[in-house]
Amino acid sequence: MHCPFCGTHETKVTDSRLVADGDQVRRRRQCTACSERFTTYETAELVMPRVVKADGSRETFDERKLRDGMLRALEKRPVSAESTEAAIERIRQRLRARGDREVEAREIGEEVMNALKRLDQVAYIRFASVYRRFQDIDEFRAEIDRLAQEPSFPPQEDER
Ligand SMILES: [Zn+2]
Repeated sequence: MHCPFCGTHETKVTDSRLVADGDQVRRRRQCTACSERFTTYETAELVMPRVVKADGSRETFDERKLRDGMLRALEKRPVSAESTEAAIERIRQRLRARGDREVEAREIGEEVMNALKRLDQVAYIRFASVYRRFQDIDEFRAEIDRLAQEPSFPPQEDER
C-alpha cells in the first residue's frame, strides 16, 4: 500500500489484529521512506441491500452517509474511533444478515439509534431528536425518562 503522506510505494505492516468481533482486520502500517504511521481496516466486501427512501426511491447503501450521521451525533463525545467503527460494522452485518435485497432507510435509522444508545447517551439523544423529530418537549422528556429507567443504561465499560 502506498504511503498517504509521501506517496512512496513501500510501507510495512507493524501490527495486525482482529477487531469488531473478528470481522475486521486492523493493521498498523509504517512508511519505509518518511516513517509516518497510519492504520488501515480491512473488511470483506459483501453486497449490501438497496436503500428504500421515504418517498419510495431507491439508492445504493452508502456507508459514508451512515458514518457521517453517527460522527455528527458523536462529536466531542468520549467514544473512540475504534468503538465507532465496530458499531458501524455491526450495523452493516445486521443489515446483511436480514438477507433482503432492500432495506428501508427508516430501519437503518433505527439501527443507528440502537448502536448510539449503546455507545453514548448524549449522542443517542442528539441523533434521536433529529431523526424522530420529537413533536414537543414532553415527548422528548418522555424519551429521556424512558432511557433513564433502562437497567442497561449507561452501558458498562466493557460494552464500549
Ligand atoms: Zn511516507
